[in-house]
Amino acid sequence: SSLIHVIGGGLAGAEAAWQIASRNIPVALHEMRPVRQTPAHRSGDLAELVCSNSFRADDPETSAIGMLHREMRALGSLIMSAADAHKLPAGGALAVDRNGFSAHITAQISNHPLIEIFREEIEGLPPADWQNVIIATGPLTSPALAAAIGALTGERDLAFYDAIAPVVHRDSIDMSKAWMQSRYDKAGPGGTGADYINCPLDKDQYYAFIDALNRAEKIEFKEFEDTPYFNGCLPIEIMAERGAETLRHGPMKPFGLTNPHNPGVKAYAVVQLRQDNALGTLYNMVGFQTKLKHGAQVGVFRAIPGLEQANFARLGGLHRNTFLNSPKVLDRAFRLKADPRLRFAGQITGCEGYVESAAIGLIAGRMAAADEKGEAFPPLPATTAIGSLINHITAGHIETIDAGPPSFQPMNVNFGLFPPLTEKLAAPEGRRVRGAEKGALKKAAISARGSRDLDAWMAAN
Ligand code: FAD
Repeated sequence: SSLIHVIGGGLAGAEAAWQIASRNIPVALHEMRPVRQTPAHRSGDLAELVCSNSFRADDPETSAIGMLHREMRALGSLIMSAADAHKLPAGGALAVDRNGFSAHITAQISNHPLIEIFREEIEGLPPADWQNVIIATGPLTSPALAAAIGALTGERDLAFYDAIAPVVHRDSIDMSKAWMQSRYDKAGPGGTGADYINCPLDKDQYYAFIDALNRAEKIEFKEFEDTPYFNGCLPIEIMAERGAETLRHGPMKPFGLTNPHNPGVKAYAVVQLRQDNALGTLYNMVGFQTKLKHGAQVGVFRAIPGLEQANFARLGGLHRNTFLNSPKVLDRAFRLKADPRLRFAGQITGCEGYVESAAIGLIAGRMAAADEKGEAFPPLPATTAIGSLINHITAGHIETIDAGPPSFQPMNVNFGLFPPLTEKLAAPEGRRVRGAEKGALKKAAISARGSRDLDAWMAAN
C-alpha cells in the first residue's frame, strides 16, 4: 500500500507532509525532536523558527521573496497560511508570532488523519522497504544521518559549513592602487582575462597584515573544534596560524599577476576579488572566509592597499550548514542520482531561508505524491520565484575559472536568479527611465511575468 516517509519536521518537512496528505496519500513523518535536539532548536514543535521571526518582505511587486510568498499562497502552502494567521505588525515585512506559528503547524499536522508522526532520529540510510522518501533534515542534520548521506555522495559533495567571504561594494575600491586582471590572463568560460580585482601587498604590508590577523578577535564556535574543514573553506586566520607564509602560498599568492601601476616591482602577496552579482556592483574577497569578529574584520581588511575605504556589503562568516552539491548529485526532481528513492528538500538542497526551505518542501512533496500516483509533474516556469530557485539548486553550478572547489553555495531567492526580461520595459509617457525608476519597473515586470506564468501553469495542471 502506498506510504511516503518524510524525515525531518522542520519548515520543509512539515510543508511536504501537508502537501502529500492533501493529495490523499498517507505520510509517516519522522522528527527526532524533542527526543534529540539540534544545537539551535529549543522545542519539540514542528517548523520551529530557530532565529529571527521574520519571513522578510511581503510585497511581490518589489521583492523576490514577496513573489515567493504570493506563489506559495497560490499553491496552498501550510507554512504561509500559518504565517498569515499569526502575523505581527512589521511594516512591509511578514513577521510572525513564533510560538503561535509553530503550534498551529504542529496541530494541523498532528490532527491530519493521513499523517502519523514518529518522534525518532533516523540514524542512517532509510530501510530498503521505504520506497518513496523525502529527507528534509535541514542545516543541522544529525551527524549519524549526515555521515550516511556523505557516504553515498562522497565527502566532497556534502558540505558541513557555509563559509562566507566578505563582499565589498565595487565603487569603494581604490582602482589607483588595485587593477583588473585574471591570473596569467586566463579567460576561462565566460571570462575576459581581466575578471578579478587585484590588491597588491609588499613584504612589510604582508607581514603587518598577518600580524593583525593573528591578533584580531575571533568568534569561538565550540561545535567546530573537532570537526575537519571541507572543500577548501579553511578560515584565513587558521591558515595564518599555520605559518606566516601559508596565505602567500594560498589565496594571497602573487603569481601570474602584473601591477600596471608599478610594473617593475613584483607584489609579495595579492588579494583577489571576484564579481559577486550580475550587475557587477559587488565583489567578494576570494578565499577570505573568516570567523574574525565583524568589527575586527573591517579594521584588518581596510589595511589592504586599495581597500582603505572599502564599504562592505557583507562581512565574512562561518556557520554550520549541511548541504549537498545539488547541481551535481540531485536530478531535476530533487532525487539523489545515487539512490533515486531518496528525494531531498529544504535547506539541505542548497536554498537558504525559512520560506525558501518551505517552498522546496512544497514542490518536493508534490513531486513525491505524483511519483506515488504514477503521474508526471510538469516543471514550474523558470520565470516564477519557485522555478528560479529550483533552477539554482538543480542547475546552479557555476564553473570556477580556476580549478578550485565547487562553487555551489546556498542562496536566498533574489532577482539575480530569474531569467532576464525579454520584452522592452514600457516607458511611461514616452519618457526615458533610468536609475531607481528603471529598477522598480523591472521588478514589477518580472513580478507580472511570474504571476502570469504561474497562473498558466496552475490552469494546465
Ligand atoms: P529545519 O527547519 O532545521 O528542519 C529540519 C528538521 O529535521 C529539524 O526539526 C530536525 O530536528 C530534524 N532532524 C535532523 N536530523 C534528523 C534525523 N536524523 N532524524 C529525524 N529528524 C531529524 N533562515 C531565515 O530565513 N531566517 C533566520 O533568521 C535564520 N536563522 C538561522 C539560524 C541558524 C542557527 C540556522 C542553522 C539556520 C537559520 N536559518 C534562517 C536558515 C534556515 O532557513 C532554517 O534553518 C530553516 O529552518 C531550514 O528549514 P529546513 O526545513 O530545511 O530545516
